[in-house]
Amino acid sequence: MYNRVDAGTIAALARIVGEENVLAGPQHAEMLERYTHDEVVGLAADPEVVVLATSAQQVSDVMRLAQAAHVPVTPRGAGYGLSGGAVPVCGGMVLSLERMNRILEIDRGNLMVTVEPGVITGDIHRAVEAEGLLYPPDPASLDSCSIGGNIAEGAGGPRAVKYRVTKDYVCGLEAVLPSGEIVNCGGKLVKDVTGYNLTQLLVGSEGTLAIVTKIILRLVPLPKVRVDLLVPFDDFQAAINTVAAIIAARILPTAIEFMEQDSVLAVEQLLGREIQFHDAAAHLLIQLDGNRQEAVDADFEIVGDLCLEHGGRDVLVAKDVRTRDRMWEARRKIIEALKHASPINHMEDVVVPRSRIPDLLAGIKEIAGRRSVRIVCFGHAGDGNVHVNVLKDDMPEDRWHPLLPLLSEEIYRLALGMGGMITGEHGIGVTRRNYLGMALSPAQIDLMRGIKATFDPNGILNPGKVFPDA
Ligand SMILES: Cc1cc2nc3c(=O)[nH]c(=O)nc-3n(C[C@H](O)[C@H](O)[C@H](O)COP(=O)(O)OP(=O)(O)OC[C@H]3O[C@@H](n4cnc5c(N)ncnc54)[C@H](O)[C@@H]3O)c2cc1C
Repeated sequence: MYNRVDAGTIAALARIVGEENVLAGPQHAEMLERYTHDEVVGLAADPEVVVLATSAQQVSDVMRLAQAAHVPVTPRGAGYGLSGGAVPVCGGMVLSLERMNRILEIDRGNLMVTVEPGVITGDIHRAVEAEGLLYPPDPASLDSCSIGGNIAEGAGGPRAVKYRVTKDYVCGLEAVLPSGEIVNCGGKLVKDVTGYNLTQLLVGSEGTLAIVTKIILRLVPLPKVRVDLLVPFDDFQAAINTVAAIIAARILPTAIEFMEQDSVLAVEQLLGREIQFHDAAAHLLIQLDGNRQEAVDADFEIVGDLCLEHGGRDVLVAKDVRTRDRMWEARRKIIEALKHASPINHMEDVVVPRSRIPDLLAGIKEIAGRRSVRIVCFGHAGDGNVHVNVLKDDMPEDRWHPLLPLLSEEIYRLALGMGGMITGEHGIGVTRRNYLGMALSPAQIDLMRGIKATFDPNGILNPGKVFPDA
């Protein structure tokens, strides 16, 4: 379907980006390895060439060349995705944006920051916080993933409960179309209804419509007061019911994260140190913020009381940076720790209306029991998004492989039956594309295919992603 990358194409790429920014052949075998995969366990494919671009013009020239040569192009940020989006499943070229990593401007007058796509998300946080501003989306991978990857995946994070997700902060994008044309959508604007909203169409398009080369993000004032609570529960379901009770009390914490005991124990093993209350069935990690100490304290009192009324064993409070970093370290390390505990595992990312979280988790426990498989849940309980980790442990291969698709289908059916969706923040990519039809109607999928064909009539940008085989 596509042409191979030949010596002429490699020479032309070197003329565009410089020889040192083109990786191909046995002399680069070691460096090429990291571009074969993202963070999905067991998914890898070899690129024929990796190109490291440093400007939008270079990206544009590379796309024109790829069109002429009919070679597929897979855009890549930091490779920390969890749905295989950056894996070059059709071979061809990986176009890495990692070297376009400058924060171009922090505009205090307009409360906006302009960045290149390869900037690590945590670096944006630190840069704007130094100016008394906040960029709220905070994927747990924030010190590893890039903002371009966040835009492409529509990333979320713990603070989505109060501040929502990446799409809510994207005001403007510069992007290179598969044809090589550079377009600018939106800008430093709070309002803009000029034509269809192309900016938001590109957010969450998983690198299949265009390559983002510049991003304008909205900022908010940095809240002056923050408090973090860790609450252990002896009963798993009681912890989950508390989440619904907090939301029903009309308090909107910044974050409500949920970790069940197996995930806490896995982190303990990874870090090699004891985690407080590791014998509890589940932990809730709750963050509150605001500008007035009294207001935050009042919410904190109510939330603390609700936790204790619902069976919380204790309420640990972190008011200083060191204690709260320790509290959050456990949460941020869970994915790594589960991989450490069971190197072969599979993660789902379902989302339901937040009031249905107790039903979702009860349903998942039922599936795990009936199928005799270890499933560990953690995640963003406050916004309805739960990460469901199926661990292989020592299950024989011939049981694991046929079981996985059955489990995925059952978990999706459960979430969809509650008005949910099959992925809240990790995207469809490769891993969920064959299930898209469970979640969307044929008419919806046809519309999306039409949009894809309009942007990319020759299908060279990130093929093999999002859509099931026709
Ligand atoms: C430990 C861990 C914790 C995580 N926690 C969260 C979390 O809390 N919330 C969450 O939402 N996700 C989370 N993730 C998933 C992941 O970090 C996000 O999906 C992130 O947005 C990926 O960014 P990246 O730069 O690594 O993208 P990559 O993996 O490099 O690419 C992801 C997709 O974006 C496309 N892409 C990348 N850059 C561009 C660009 N400039 N233009 C167009 N397309 C592009 C790629 O083609 C691919 O389809 C986590 C992952 C890990 C490993």
